[in-house]
Amino acid sequence: MPVNGNDFESIKSFVVTNRIDMVVVGPEEPLVKGIHDFFLADNALKNIPVIGPQKAGAELEGSKDFAKQFMIRHNIPTAAYSTFTIETLTDGIAFIKTLNPPYVLKADGLAAGKGVVICKTLAEAEKELTDMLVGQKFGNASAMVVIEEFLDGIELSAFAITNGKEYLVLPEAKDYKRIGEGDTGPNTGGMGSVSPVPFADREFMQKVEDRIIRPTVKGLQKDGIPYQGFLFFGLMNIKGDPFVIEYNVRLGDPETESVLPRINNDLIEIFQATANGNLSAIKLETDERTAACVMIVSGGYPGNYVKGKEISGIKEVTKSHIFHAGTVTENNKTVSSGGRVLAVTSLASDLKTAVNQSNESALLLNFEDSYFRRDIGIDLM
Ligand code: AMP
Repeated sequence: MPVNGNDFESIKSFVVTNRIDMVVVGPEEPLVKGIHDFFLADNALKNIPVIGPQKAGAELEGSKDFAKQFMIRHNIPTAAYSTFTIETLTDGIAFIKTLNPPYVLKADGLAAGKGVVICKTLAEAEKELTDMLVGQKFGNASAMVVIEEFLDGIELSAFAITNGKEYLVLPEAKDYKRIGEGDTGPNTGGMGSVSPVPFADREFMQKVEDRIIRPTVKGLQKDGIPYQGFLFFGLMNIKGDPFVIEYNVRLGDPETESVLPRINNDLIEIFQATANGNLSAIKLETDERTAACVMIVSGGYPGNYVKGKEISGIKEVTKSHIFHAGTVTENNKTVSSGGRVLAVTSLASDLKTAVNQSNESALLLNFEDSYFRRDIGIDLM
């Protein structure tokens, strides 16, 4: 029975009826709305561990302004910024004029991944700021807008799981957001990912841990914010130094599809250790191979697309993992039900072999007008 993740009462009855022992929260919205707090406040639910922060910690993703203040307060490297509201629109425009193009404008609240706009010209940026603040382009999410310095570098994502005191650094990943090959065209929810990231060598990842991951966990402690769950760090590598672009308070997709296959530990044991406060007893066992994930999407995505197309070839894929993203079963057939339909992940001793394997498997998976990028990871080879 499908349960809406934002309908806490329905989740409660599902959890109680099915005697669920642990809840791992995937999406950000229930966390920002306080599902973990809801569990803690309910006598029937309070002893069921929830992996995912309470509302206060989820603000790291729920409010860009909160995240920026947090990073500045705890000396975590990030782009210089200022935050504006409708009352300070003219100051905002004056601030934009002090920056060099391109200009980065971010709706403060959750905007389904669409709230970041990068403007090439001053005129565009002024219009965008006005649309966000006055025109409420992203509704209440753009009642506050963060304007920040543009960071020029290569992006990657780092991950950790923490109980607020101890943390475990998970494998890093790089994702591919644009629809078109060669990173062209509009942004999507993600067209593929790879892990590990060749340029994120030991020295770089040590900087990430020392300058970003540990200070984040310590910062949460200093601020008295409990935190039990994943931390995702959207990073920019600028000449070998990491800067934080954004926090997520969960695992990101499609990075998860190349990060989790590289973890050999039992995930449930990691979750239990997180909830029981003995995360340091866990030694992460990583698969040294490279994982490459390719996302198969509906034709037209991220614009208009048609759903309900029958998918063939699933049983023929034997050398890759298939993750169902937007599929449903109808009359014993698997049909598409979203823009991003299937994620295909392969593990191999090198990146090229892993990508080729995923592409080969993706070619076996067919539905009308399906599309996938054949160049995932090529920039890293
Ligand atoms: P976010 O939703 O914060 O991850 O932003 C979406 C995308 O916008 C990021 O993945 C980056 O590609 C880009 N971006 C965000 N902030 C900056 C920045 N300060 N400088 C350069 N690119 C940025």
